[in-house]
Amino acid sequence: LRRLVIVLGDQLDEQASAFDDFDPAQDAVWMAEVTEESTHVWSTKPRIAVFLGAMRHFRQTLVARGITVHYLALSDAGNPGTLQTALTDAILALQPRALGMTAPGDWRVLHALREVARHHQLPLHLSDDRHFFSTVREFADHARTHRPLRMEYWYREMRQRFGILMERGKPAGGRWNFDTENRKSFGKAGPQDVPPPTRFAPDAITAGVIDEVNTRFADHPGSLASFAWPMTRPQALQALQDFVSQRLPDFGTHQDAMWTHEPWLYHSHLSSSLNLKLLTAREVVQAAVDAWQAGQAPLASVEGFVRQILGWREYVRGVYWTQMPGYVDRNELQATRDLPAFYWTGDTDMACLRAAIGQTLEHGYAHHIQRLMVTGLYAMMLGVRPREVHYWYLAVYVDAVEWVEMPNTLGMSQYADGGLMGSKPYVASGRYIDRMSNYCKGCRFDPTVSTGARACPFTTLYWDFLLRHEARLQTNERMIMPLKHLERLDAEQREAVRMQADLHRASVGAIERDQD
Ligand code: FAD
Ligand code: SF4
Repeated sequence: LRRLVIVLGDQLDEQASAFDDFDPAQDAVWMAEVTEESTHVWSTKPRIAVFLGAMRHFRQTLVARGITVHYLALSDAGNPGTLQTALTDAILALQPRALGMTAPGDWRVLHALREVARHHQLPLHLSDDRHFFSTVREFADHARTHRPLRMEYWYREMRQRFGILMERGKPAGGRWNFDTENRKSFGKAGPQDVPPPTRFAPDAITAGVIDEVNTRFADHPGSLASFAWPMTRPQALQALQDFVSQRLPDFGTHQDAMWTHEPWLYHSHLSSSLNLKLLTAREVVQAAVDAWQAGQAPLASVEGFVRQILGWREYVRGVYWTQMPGYVDRNELQATRDLPAFYWTGDTDMACLRAAIGQTLEHGYAHHIQRLMVTGLYAMMLGVRPREVHYWYLAVYVDAVEWVEMPNTLGMSQYADGGLMGSKPYVASGRYIDRMSNYCKGCRFDPTVSTGARACPFTTLYWDFLLRHEARLQTNERMIMPLKHLERLDAEQREAVRMQADLHRASVGAIERDQD
């Protein structure tokens, strides 16, 4: 065997660079299902099923192309359960002269595979991941000359470099940013006639995966009762087309809004297909730009969407690879508390958290603001250890892969990197959630109240957060206004907030510990 090409569960692209000089007569593909990937964080059933289902379909695609695939299934006798040992077994059995792969997304996986290759004295050829617009090297160059790092400047550079939404060297519409048109709430009436999400009834392969996950990972959180995510490239393309024609026009306006019993709204739900590499970042961005050019979607919506992929997604990847391995240990706010157990059940009387966690466990999905301004915000203000928050996000979502999840969690949502990802902590009271959703209408708490029986825990924790971190945040220009509002609280009110916050922490089991 000339070369064994390793294809990981998030590298399911026939056009990937690892296949560039693939010769079916001399080379073969190796894929492995290992329990470690579902248990190193306590993954939800939807997340496990997305990866296994898409991997099994991809195997079929490769085999149909005449490629030999050495595929280790979870149920195969002797499956050692870890990627390193499984690869070692494959090397001993197949005796390849070299290993090859598209550069993996995760630091942990890259180092584990390098270790195996070194041990067997085999060359491991890594090729750039063409799925992305940029390379990590390009991001590192940008980071060297841009301090502090900010997504906005990276994004503008990318727009210019790739000529996306540009007109004669200037941003289309004369502006880089359409936030003022975007990010509105649904108002009192709520969302009207939201197009249904594109869902795919499980075929025989997926049904087999669902059965297996329900049995093998029975004690894992989440449900597969409504599992219907895209498992193949044709399905992912269909989901992209439906999004662009049905939801993209309203995407921007309602990007930040939330509503009870409306888990899907105008979002694309394409993150799992993108992260599995069933779709490329380029074709998703291009589809949105084409819709704008054809007059089928307004510029504000298209720009809002393009910013997420060309901007944020490429940016977080760069942050991850330029900051690892130390990034995972960052804990700027010195948070030391346990994550409340209700994150794994949704069993809480805080309506916003119940909704966000509930749909997460049911579908493996919540949109960005639910992640950032409900589950993430609450954990940060409670003072939960960032690493534990990171493990939760990595475990629960169908799109959860470390390179994108970790900077979003540790950096953007927990401010654990001290402002490397974003310029200030995303901190807000219950009033923000009330403005952007109808959650508070169905809640026993009152978002305007910070102490007493009806106090909204978000509002209590908001003031408590500012009190606890006042000294640290004083030098941050973007925190001047919120900190100024603190002056409204006299000594007695401050003490009442602190006591209420402590009582709340105790009531949800957010226990303080010294050790990570
Ligand atoms: P849309 O709202 O339709 O956005 C379009 C696409 O833009 C997404 O599919 C996604 O690929 C990309 N995108 C949007 N926001 C971001 C962002 N902040 N960073 C990177 N890409 C973005 N995204 C993941 O793909 N995997 C994760 O594990 C993940 N973990 C997150 C954890 C936290 C704490 C937070 C705050 C955000 C996280 N995100 C993650 C980013 C974002 O929330 C999801 O990409 C988005 O909600 C997926 O839903 P969608 O496909 O409907 O996105
Ligand atoms: Fe969430 Fe507070 Fe609103 Fe209840 S009142 S839904 S806890 S923000």
